[in-house]
Amino acid sequence: RVAYVNGRYLPHADAGVHIEDRGFQFSDGVYEVVAIADGRPVDLTGHIVRLARSLRELRIAMPMPERALRLVMREVVRRNAVSNGILYIQVNRGVHRRDHPFPPAHVAPSLIMTARPTPGVSARVMEEGTAVVTVPDRRWARRDIKSVSLLPNVLAKQAAREAGAWEAWQVDGDGFVTEGSSTNAWIVTPDGTLVTRPTGDDILAGITRAALIDLARREGIPVEERAFTVEEAKRAREAFNSSTTLPTVPVVRIDDTPVANGAPGSVTVRLHDLYEAHTVGAGAE
Ligand code: PLP
Repeated sequence: RVAYVNGRYLPHADAGVHIEDRGFQFSDGVYEVVAIADGRPVDLTGHIVRLARSLRELRIAMPMPERALRLVMREVVRRNAVSNGILYIQVNRGVHRRDHPFPPAHVAPSLIMTARPTPGVSARVMEEGTAVVTVPDRRWARRDIKSVSLLPNVLAKQAAREAGAWEAWQVDGDGFVTEGSSTNAWIVTPDGTLVTRPTGDDILAGITRAALIDLARREGIPVEERAFTVEEAKRAREAFNSSTTLPTVPVVRIDDTPVANGAPGSVTVRLHDLYEAHTVGAGAE
Protein backbone atom coordinates (compact mmCIF):
# COMPACT_ATOMS: atom_id res chain seq x y z
CA ARG A 1 0.00 0.00 0.00
CA VAL A 2 1.02 3.58 -0.76
CA ALA A 3 0.23 6.83 1.04
CA TYR A 4 0.51 10.37 -0.29
CA VAL A 5 2.13 12.74 2.24
CA ASN A 6 2.87 16.35 1.30
CA GLY A 7 3.97 15.75 -2.28
CA ARG A 8 5.45 12.26 -1.92
CA TYR A 9 4.13 8.76 -2.47
CA LEU A 10 5.47 6.61 0.37
CA PRO A 11 5.07 2.98 1.41
CA HIS A 12 2.10 3.05 3.78
CA ALA A 13 4.04 1.37 6.59
CA ASP A 14 6.68 4.13 6.56
CA ALA A 15 4.38 7.13 5.97
CA GLY A 16 4.20 9.62 8.81
CA VAL A 17 3.75 13.28 9.63
CA HIS A 18 6.07 15.55 11.57
CA ILE A 19 5.50 15.76 15.34
CA GLU A 20 4.79 19.50 14.91
CA ASP A 21 2.04 18.83 12.36
CA ARG A 22 -1.04 20.76 13.50
CA GLY A 23 -3.28 17.84 12.62
CA PHE A 24 -1.36 15.80 15.18
CA GLN A 25 -0.93 18.62 17.75
CA PHE A 26 -4.32 20.35 17.63
CA SER A 27 -6.64 18.33 15.35
CA ASP A 28 -6.44 21.57 13.37
CA GLY A 29 -7.65 20.14 10.09
CA VAL A 30 -10.43 18.57 8.06
CA TYR A 31 -10.94 15.38 6.12
CA GLU A 32 -13.02 13.64 3.50
CA VAL A 33 -13.77 9.99 2.81
CA VAL A 34 -14.70 9.24 -0.80
CA ALA A 35 -16.18 5.91 -1.90
CA ILE A 36 -14.46 4.08 -4.76
CA ALA A 37 -16.67 1.86 -6.91
CA ASP A 38 -15.14 -0.08 -9.81
CA GLY A 39 -11.99 2.00 -9.41
CA ARG A 40 -13.84 5.31 -9.74
CA PRO A 41 -14.67 7.89 -7.06
CA VAL A 42 -18.37 8.29 -6.29
CA ASP A 43 -19.87 11.82 -6.05
CA LEU A 44 -16.36 13.29 -6.15
CA THR A 45 -17.52 16.82 -6.90
CA GLY A 46 -19.72 16.81 -3.79
CA HIS A 47 -16.76 15.76 -1.65
CA ILE A 48 -14.47 18.40 -3.15
CA VAL A 49 -17.08 21.11 -2.65
CA ARG A 50 -17.54 20.05 1.00
CA LEU A 51 -13.76 19.89 1.55
CA ALA A 52 -13.34 23.40 0.13
CA ARG A 53 -16.16 24.64 2.37
CA SER A 54 -14.73 23.01 5.53
CA LEU A 55 -11.34 24.61 4.74
CA ARG A 56 -12.88 28.02 4.06
CA GLU A 57 -14.79 27.95 7.35
CA LEU A 58 -11.53 27.26 9.23
CA ARG A 59 -9.45 29.62 7.06
CA ILE A 60 -7.08 26.85 5.98
CA ALA A 61 -5.78 27.24 2.41
CA MET A 62 -6.71 24.72 -0.28
CA PRO A 63 -3.43 22.72 -0.57
CA MET A 64 -3.41 22.75 -4.39
CA PRO A 65 -5.70 23.70 -7.26
CA GLU A 66 -8.73 21.46 -7.67
CA ARG A 67 -7.46 19.90 -10.91
CA ALA A 68 -4.20 18.86 -9.26
CA LEU A 69 -6.08 17.53 -6.24
CA ARG A 70 -8.23 15.36 -8.49
CA LEU A 71 -5.08 14.00 -10.17
CA VAL A 72 -3.47 13.06 -6.86
CA MET A 73 -6.72 11.43 -5.72
CA ARG A 74 -6.84 9.28 -8.85
CA GLU A 75 -3.15 8.43 -8.49
CA VAL A 76 -3.57 7.26 -4.88
CA VAL A 77 -6.49 5.04 -5.90
CA ARG A 78 -4.51 3.69 -8.87
CA ARG A 79 -1.29 3.02 -6.93
CA ASN A 80 -3.26 1.11 -4.30
CA ALA A 81 -5.20 -0.80 -6.96
CA VAL A 82 -8.46 -0.13 -5.11
CA SER A 83 -11.46 -1.25 -7.04
CA ASN A 84 -14.07 -1.03 -4.26
CA GLY A 85 -13.13 0.85 -1.13
CA ILE A 86 -12.43 4.29 0.23
CA LEU A 87 -10.07 7.21 -0.36
CA TYR A 88 -9.16 9.21 2.77
CA ILE A 89 -8.00 12.82 2.42
CA GLN A 90 -6.79 15.03 5.25
CA VAL A 91 -5.85 18.69 4.97
CA ASN A 92 -4.57 20.50 8.03
CA ARG A 93 -2.92 23.81 8.90
CA GLY A 94 0.59 22.46 8.35
CA VAL A 95 3.80 22.01 10.32
CA HIS A 96 4.97 24.74 12.68
CA ARG A 97 6.35 25.11 16.24
CA ARG A 98 3.51 24.35 18.62
CA ASP A 99 1.52 27.49 19.43
CA HIS A 100 -2.24 27.99 19.34
CA PRO A 101 -2.59 30.93 16.89
CA PHE A 102 -2.43 30.22 13.17
CA PRO A 103 1.14 29.79 11.85
CA PRO A 104 2.52 32.49 9.49
CA ALA A 105 0.96 32.63 6.03
CA HIS A 106 4.02 31.04 4.36
CA VAL A 107 3.41 27.74 6.19
CA ALA A 108 1.80 25.40 3.66
CA PRO A 109 -1.15 23.22 4.65
CA SER A 110 -0.46 19.48 5.02
CA LEU A 111 -2.13 17.10 2.58
CA ILE A 112 -2.34 13.38 3.30
CA MET A 113 -4.18 10.68 1.34
CA THR A 114 -4.61 6.94 1.72
CA ALA A 115 -6.83 4.41 -0.05
CA ARG A 116 -7.89 0.92 0.86
CA PRO A 117 -10.43 -1.70 -0.13
CA THR A 118 -13.57 -1.98 2.05
CA PRO A 119 -16.23 -4.70 1.95
CA GLY A 120 -19.37 -2.48 1.87
CA VAL A 121 -22.61 -3.46 3.60
CA SER A 122 -22.63 -7.23 4.08
CA ALA A 123 -25.55 -9.40 2.98
CA ARG A 124 -25.90 -10.44 6.61
CA VAL A 125 -26.31 -6.84 7.81
CA MET A 126 -28.90 -6.22 5.07
CA GLU A 127 -30.82 -9.30 6.25
CA GLU A 128 -30.47 -8.96 10.00
CA GLY A 129 -29.95 -5.22 10.56
CA THR A 130 -28.06 -3.58 13.40
CA ALA A 131 -28.72 -2.02 16.78
CA VAL A 132 -28.13 1.59 17.81
CA VAL A 133 -27.84 3.08 21.27
CA THR A 134 -28.65 6.70 22.09
CA VAL A 135 -26.11 9.00 23.75
CA PRO A 136 -26.08 12.73 24.51
CA ASP A 137 -24.55 14.79 21.71
CA ARG A 138 -21.46 16.25 23.36
CA ARG A 139 -19.82 17.74 20.26
CA TRP A 140 -19.03 21.36 19.45
CA ALA A 141 -21.46 23.70 17.71
CA ARG A 142 -19.98 23.42 14.18
CA ARG A 143 -20.70 19.84 13.22
CA ASP A 144 -21.17 20.93 9.61
CA ILE A 145 -17.37 21.21 9.35
CA LYS A 146 -15.79 17.80 8.69
CA SER A 147 -13.12 18.32 11.34
CA VAL A 148 -10.56 15.64 12.24
CA SER A 149 -11.32 16.47 15.87
CA LEU A 150 -13.50 13.42 16.49
CA LEU A 151 -13.11 12.64 20.19
CA PRO A 152 -16.84 12.74 21.09
CA ASN A 153 -17.60 10.63 18.00
CA VAL A 154 -14.96 8.09 19.04
CA LEU A 155 -16.41 7.89 22.56
CA ALA A 156 -19.95 7.56 21.20
CA LYS A 157 -18.95 4.76 18.80
CA GLN A 158 -17.10 2.95 21.58
CA ALA A 159 -20.16 3.23 23.85
CA ALA A 160 -22.17 1.59 21.05
CA ARG A 161 -19.69 -1.24 20.62
CA GLU A 162 -19.56 -1.89 24.37
CA ALA A 163 -23.37 -2.11 24.38
CA GLY A 164 -23.26 -4.63 21.51
CA ALA A 165 -24.58 -2.06 19.02
CA TRP A 166 -23.17 -0.87 15.70
CA GLU A 167 -23.81 2.84 15.97
CA ALA A 168 -24.61 5.50 18.57
CA TRP A 169 -27.29 8.04 17.76
CA GLN A 170 -26.37 11.34 19.33
CA VAL A 171 -29.27 13.23 20.87
CA ASP A 172 -29.58 17.00 21.35
CA GLY A 173 -30.84 18.72 24.52
CA ASP A 174 -34.46 18.60 23.29
CA GLY A 175 -34.51 14.84 22.71
CA PHE A 176 -34.02 15.04 18.94
CA VAL A 177 -31.53 12.76 17.17
CA THR A 178 -28.77 14.76 15.49
CA GLU A 179 -26.87 11.95 13.71
CA GLY A 180 -24.75 8.87 14.31
CA SER A 181 -21.10 9.02 15.36
CA SER A 182 -20.01 8.54 11.73
CA THR A 183 -23.34 8.39 9.91
CA ASN A 184 -26.54 10.32 9.20
CA ALA A 185 -29.68 8.95 10.88
CA TRP A 186 -32.97 8.19 9.10
CA ILE A 187 -36.42 6.84 9.87
CA VAL A 188 -39.43 5.84 7.79
CA THR A 189 -42.67 6.92 9.48
CA PRO A 190 -45.71 4.60 9.78
CA ASP A 191 -47.21 6.36 6.72
CA GLY A 192 -44.08 5.65 4.62
CA THR A 193 -42.35 9.05 4.70
CA LEU A 194 -38.56 9.09 4.76
CA VAL A 195 -37.33 11.49 7.45
CA THR A 196 -33.84 12.84 8.14
CA ARG A 197 -32.62 15.92 9.96
CA PRO A 198 -32.14 19.08 7.86
CA THR A 199 -28.59 20.23 7.26
CA GLY A 200 -27.28 23.08 9.40
CA ASP A 201 -24.61 23.68 12.03
CA ASP A 202 -25.73 20.68 14.08
CA ILE A 203 -24.99 17.82 11.63
CA LEU A 204 -22.62 16.96 8.83
CA ALA A 205 -24.20 17.38 5.40
CA GLY A 206 -23.55 13.80 4.31
CA ILE A 207 -22.82 13.25 0.64
CA THR A 208 -24.63 9.90 0.85
CA ARG A 209 -27.51 11.66 2.60
CA ALA A 210 -27.89 14.04 -0.35
CA ALA A 211 -27.66 11.20 -2.89
CA LEU A 212 -30.30 9.14 -1.03
CA ILE A 213 -32.72 12.09 -0.82
CA ASP A 214 -32.32 12.59 -4.55
CA LEU A 215 -32.80 8.89 -5.36
CA ALA A 216 -35.84 8.64 -3.05
CA ARG A 217 -37.52 11.70 -4.58
CA ARG A 218 -36.96 10.32 -8.08
CA GLU A 219 -38.61 7.07 -6.95
CA GLY A 220 -41.63 8.97 -5.65
CA ILE A 221 -40.83 8.16 -2.00
CA PRO A 222 -41.99 11.12 0.13
CA VAL A 223 -39.06 12.78 1.93
CA GLU A 224 -39.23 15.20 4.85
CA GLU A 225 -36.13 16.97 6.10
CA ARG A 226 -36.99 17.53 9.75
CA ALA A 227 -35.65 16.52 13.14
CA PHE A 228 -37.15 13.45 14.86
CA THR A 229 -37.06 12.42 18.50
CA VAL A 230 -35.81 9.12 19.90
CA GLU A 231 -39.44 8.39 20.86
CA GLU A 232 -40.64 8.89 17.29
CA ALA A 233 -37.81 6.70 15.98
CA LYS A 234 -38.83 3.88 18.34
CA ARG A 235 -42.35 3.99 16.84
CA ALA A 236 -41.07 4.21 13.26
CA ARG A 237 -41.70 1.61 10.57
CA GLU A 238 -38.01 1.56 9.60
CA ALA A 239 -34.72 3.14 10.55
CA PHE A 240 -31.25 3.16 9.03
CA ASN A 241 -27.91 4.98 8.91
CA SER A 242 -26.03 6.34 5.91
CA SER A 243 -22.39 7.11 5.16
CA THR A 244 -19.91 6.91 2.34
CA THR A 245 -18.27 3.80 3.81
CA LEU A 246 -21.58 1.97 4.40
CA PRO A 247 -24.34 3.70 2.41
CA THR A 248 -27.42 2.12 4.02
CA VAL A 249 -27.20 0.16 7.26
CA PRO A 250 -30.61 -1.02 8.51
CA VAL A 251 -31.38 -0.30 12.19
CA VAL A 252 -33.65 -2.87 13.84
CA ARG A 253 -33.24 -1.94 17.50
CA ILE A 254 -32.92 1.43 19.25
CA ASP A 255 -31.68 0.99 22.83
CA ASP A 256 -33.90 -1.89 23.96
CA THR A 257 -36.79 -1.24 21.60
CA PRO A 258 -37.19 -3.22 18.36
CA VAL A 259 -38.05 -1.11 15.32
CA ALA A 260 -41.38 -2.41 13.94
CA ASN A 261 -41.05 -6.21 13.64
CA GLY A 262 -37.28 -6.11 14.22
CA ALA A 263 -36.28 -6.77 10.61
CA PRO A 264 -34.83 -4.38 7.99
CA GLY A 265 -37.57 -2.50 6.15
CA SER A 266 -38.47 -2.46 2.47
CA VAL A 267 -37.71 1.25 1.90
CA THR A 268 -34.22 0.75 3.37
CA VAL A 269 -33.57 -2.23 1.11
CA ARG A 270 -34.94 -0.33 -1.91
CA LEU A 271 -32.65 2.63 -1.19
CA HIS A 272 -29.71 0.26 -0.77
CA ASP A 273 -30.37 -1.17 -4.25
CA LEU A 274 -30.90 2.27 -5.81
CA TYR A 275 -27.65 3.52 -4.27
CA GLU A 276 -25.75 0.51 -5.62
CA ALA A 277 -27.03 1.33 -9.11
CA HIS A 278 -26.08 4.99 -8.54
CA THR A 279 -22.46 4.15 -7.71
CA VAL A 280 -21.94 2.11 -10.86
CA GLY A 281 -24.03 4.44 -13.01
CA ALA A 282 -24.21 8.11 -13.80
CA GLY A 283 -23.33 9.24 -10.27
CA ALA A 284 -19.79 7.92 -10.41
CA GLU A 285 -17.37 10.48 -11.86
N1 PLP B 1 -22.18 12.34 10.03
C1 PLP B 1 -20.96 12.21 10.56
C2 PLP B 1 -20.69 12.72 11.93
C3 PLP B 1 -19.94 11.58 9.82
O1 PLP B 1 -18.70 11.45 10.34
C4 PLP B 1 -20.23 11.08 8.52
C5 PLP B 1 -19.21 10.42 7.71
O2 PLP B 1 -18.08 10.27 8.07
C6 PLP B 1 -21.53 11.23 8.02
C7 PLP B 1 -22.48 11.88 8.80
C8 PLP B 1 -21.90 10.73 6.65
O3 PLP B 1 -21.39 11.56 5.65
P1 PLP B 1 -21.03 11.00 4.21
O4 PLP B 1 -22.29 10.41 3.65
O5 PLP B 1 -20.59 12.19 3.44
O6 PLP B 1 -19.97 9.97 4.38
